[in-house]
Amino acid sequence: MAIRVGTLIVIMCIIAAIDVQGIGASSTYYDLAAKDFGGIVSVRPLAFLAISKSDDLARIVRLAYISDDLTVAARGNGHSINGQAMAEGGLVIDMRSVESGHFGLVKANGSTYYADVPGGALWEDVLDWCLAQGLSPRSNTDYLRLTVGGTLSNAGVGGHTFRFGPQTSNVAELEVITGKGQRVVCSEKENAELFFGALGGLGQFGIITRAQILLQPAPDMVRWIRLVYTDFDEFTQDAESLVTAPEGQSFDYIEGIVVVNGDDPFNGWPSVPLHPNQTFNSDLIPQSAGPMLYCLEVTLHYKKYDSRTAIDVTVDSLLRQLRYVEGLDFQADVSYRDFLLRVKWEEQAARAEGAWDKPHRWLNIFLSRTDIAEFDHAAFKTILKDGIGGRLLVYPVLRRNFDNRTSLVLPEAEIFYIVSILRLGLPIPNEPSVGRMISQDKEIIKVCEDNAFDYKLYLWNFETQEEWKRHFGKKWGMFARRKMMFDPKAILSPGQNIFT
Ligand code: FAD
Repeated sequence: MAIRVGTLIVIMCIIAAIDVQGIGASSTYYDLAAKDFGGIVSVRPLAFLAISKSDDLARIVRLAYISDDLTVAARGNGHSINGQAMAEGGLVIDMRSVESGHFGLVKANGSTYYADVPGGALWEDVLDWCLAQGLSPRSNTDYLRLTVGGTLSNAGVGGHTFRFGPQTSNVAELEVITGKGQRVVCSEKENAELFFGALGGLGQFGIITRAQILLQPAPDMVRWIRLVYTDFDEFTQDAESLVTAPEGQSFDYIEGIVVVNGDDPFNGWPSVPLHPNQTFNSDLIPQSAGPMLYCLEVTLHYKKYDSRTAIDVTVDSLLRQLRYVEGLDFQADVSYRDFLLRVKWEEQAARAEGAWDKPHRWLNIFLSRTDIAEFDHAAFKTILKDGIGGRLLVYPVLRRNFDNRTSLVLPEAEIFYIVSILRLGLPIPNEPSVGRMISQDKEIIKVCEDNAFDYKLYLWNFETQEEWKRHFGKKWGMFARRKMMFDPKAILSPGQNIFT
C-alpha cells in the first residue's frame, strides 16, 4: 500500500513524540487489529498502537486530524462481527492499554456510587473491582469480556435492561477525545451534546477514555431459573407481565432462549438444564408442540444471610403466576459473580470445540411486541428451525428505560423484544456455510421489511450511507450535525462505514 508523505511524517511524529508501548512490530500483535470476533472481515491498518496515557492518545488524534488522510479506530476487545473496530490503512488504538487499571469510586448524593473506569477496561474487571467494594454495575451485558467504551458506543443490553435500561442509561459522565483531538469531560449537564452523541454513537464523535458507571449494592447469590414453554404466546405474555411488574414483584434479570424441540446436544433440550445432575424429561412435552421450545430465563438476587426458605417462598409465589410446562423448570443457586460470568464458561466450552475461532455471523434486532408472534412463525419456526449452533435469544424490554437523547435508535413501541441470533460455531446438523448464514440473515431482515415490522437492527454494519440514513430515520439530522461538530474530517471509527 502506498503511504502519502504527509501520513509518513505524522507517523514519525507519533513515534518520536509519544510513549507508544507497542506499535504492532510483532506480526501476531499487528494481526490482532485486522481481526474481530466475526472472523469474516479483515482489513490491514497502517499501525496498531498500544498507548498508556490518554494525553498521548489525544496527541495522536490531533496529528491524524492535521494529516492528509489518516483515520483512527478505537479497538475495545475486538468483539465486533463485521470489522467495525478496524481501519484500513489507518491507526488502530488498543484501548485496553490506555489508562489501564486506573479505577476509582465516586460518591454522589446520598448513597449513590459510581465507578470511574477507563474506556478500555473489560466489564469483567469492572465487576471484580466493584464486588471488592460490595457494589456492582446495575445493568450488565450477558458477556463481560467486552470493553466499557465498546458497549457504551452501542448500547450494552442484557437481562437487567428491562429494569435499568441499557448500559448507556447507567452512565453519569464520560471523558471523550473528539475527532479534533480535544479531551472533553461531558455529562447530562456539561457538554451534553457530546455526552449523548457518544452514547450509542458507534465511535463516531470521540474515543471514550473514561466513564462513570452507576452502581448498586451487590447481591451475593442468585437463584437462577429456566422455565420451558411450548406455546410462544404464553411465553411472551408471561415475559411481558414480568418485565412490566413493579420492582419487588418480579425477578431481577429476565431473558428468553429459543431451543430446538429435539435432542441435539447444542441446539435442543440438553442445552436447557442448569446443572449436570438435572435431566430434561422430554415426555413432558405435549405432542402438539411445534419445532421450537421457549425458555424463560430469570434470576432472583439475594444475600448470603437471607433465609433459603424465604427465597423459596418468593420464587414459588412468582412461578405460580406463570404458564410453563409443569416439570420443565430448572433451578440452581450460584454466586452473583458466577452468574454474570456464565458466558465465559460457555466460551471455554466453545473454545474446546474449536468453535470460538470459527467465523461468526450474528444478527441482533429490536422488534416491537406487536410483530413478535409473526416473527416467531417466519424466523424461529421456519428459517432457523434446525438451530444455529449458538444462542437464540428473545426477551422484552421497556422503551422508557432507554434515554432517547442518546444516538441509539429504537422501534416506536413501548415494549419491544431484543432478538439475538448468536451463532457461536457449535456443531449443528447440516452446518451452514458463512454464505448460507448471510442469506438466512437477509431472509430474516426481508421478513421484517416486507411485513413493515416496527424494528431496528442493533450492532449492524450497513454498507452505504443511504442505509444508515434509513436506519437513523428522524435522528439522522442530529447524528450528521454532531459528526460535523466533533469529527468534521471523519477520521474516527471508519469501520462503521457511515461517513467517509
Ligand atoms: P469493539 O468491537 O472493539 O469496538 C466496537 C465499536 O466501538 C467500534 O466501532 C470501535 O471503534 C468502537 N469503540 C471501541 N472502543 C471505543 C471507545 N473506547 N470509544 C469510542 N469508540 C469505541 N452486546 C450487548 O449489548 N449485550 C450482550 O450481552 C453482548 N454479548 C456479547 C457476547 C459476545 C461473545 C460477543 C462477541 C459480543 C457481545 N455483544 C453484546 C456485542 C458487543 O457489545 C459489541 O461487540 C461491542 O462492540 C463491544 O465489543 P468491544 O468492546 O470488543 O468493542
